Amino acid sequence: MTTTPVALNLSTPARGARGKPPKHFADLTPAERVAKVVELGEKPLRAKQLATHYFSHLTSDPSAMTDLPASSRDALVEAMFPELLTPARTLRADGGTTVKTLWHLFDGAKVESVLMRYANRSTLCVSSQAGCGMACPFCATGQLGLTRNLSPAEIIEQVRSAARSLAAGEVPGGDTRLSNVVFMGMGEPLANYKTVMATVRALTAPTPEGFGMSARNITVSTVGLAPAMDRLAAEGIPVTLALSLHAPDDELRSELVPMNEKFSVKQVLDSARRYFEATGRRVSIEYALMRDINDQAWRADLLGTELNRRGRGWVHCNPIPLNPTPGSKWTASDPAVEAEFVARLRAHGIPTTVRDTRGSDIDGACGQLAAEED
Ligand code: SAH
Repeated sequence: MTTTPVALNLSTPARGARGKPPKHFADLTPAERVAKVVELGEKPLRAKQLATHYFSHLTSDPSAMTDLPASSRDALVEAMFPELLTPARTLRADGGTTVKTLWHLFDGAKVESVLMRYANRSTLCVSSQAGCGMACPFCATGQLGLTRNLSPAEIIEQVRSAARSLAAGEVPGGDTRLSNVVFMGMGEPLANYKTVMATVRALTAPTPEGFGMSARNITVSTVGLAPAMDRLAAEGIPVTLALSLHAPDDELRSELVPMNEKFSVKQVLDSARRYFEATGRRVSIEYALMRDINDQAWRADLLGTELNRRGRGWVHCNPIPLNPTPGSKWTASDPAVEAEFVARLRAHGIPTTVRDTRGSDIDGACGQLAAEED
């Protein structure tokens, strides 16, 4: 394997002539929502009414808001709930229980989200950026480069839409609640830090100020932006942190995750350990198993040693069978090799679960989101 130099784009992308997404109710803090309705000539209590419709009833349809005076309903909704996400294509798999939606944003940027219903939970995988600047060579999104950061409401709308669909019984299995959100769609969430935190606050705030989700049911996945991991640890919102490690040694990890040149295996694992200490939340280590690349038994042993060096019971491992991406020269590990890798980690006392590859037949699995139209 050769190493290709890649440009890492960590900075906030220029907004360009097309400007920012329109401000939406979900971009505002509860206090700002009150200020905004007052500015629009309405009573302060309207903010709570709108929040109830949006976060509890999961709607921004004025015709459903019968507790608001008909005279101001349309104007309020028009001012506060601009259309941010237009569904462009929906693909279903697993008997309709996996649903991938391609969204067009106001400026033509495209993102995808994937809803996965299981027996005991429903998980939405959201995008936090259009494209991604991290350039991991085995990930389809990484090949696109970064288009732009999403706004909080552009992420929150992905969540509201999925929660509404589940509540309306549109996913086979009867109506249900959205229980989990994972920031594992397009983008590097910690490179859009403020927006992701504003989103997490809206997800976890009790209804009607937010969706009332439990922080532990929200997972933020990162390539390992160590300073941002430490910042996240200090927020006092114990979300689950997932670290995309993929190799226990710097030589290989720098090829698979170019950001490793900036934050090494040691730095990212030390930050992950500090995250556990600050929050008490066990960190997930993601490891996409690639045949003959990172799946050797000695690498499983090295990973086990590196994790245990930092303590016991603070981490669990999530090997992911590599999902195919266009033009990629890598393939998934042989099942026997995968089994040996898992067995080695467990022999080191590391709890290990292989991630299922839901949605791979609709290019909706990890690393396959490329916002293709057809
Ligand atoms: N940028 C963040 C969020 C994306 S999460 C991060 O990298 O953590 C998507 C997860 O899927 C990451 O662990 C990523 O490394 C993994 N992934 C990417 N491409 C993959 C592929 N082709 N097969 C399996 N997993 C992949």
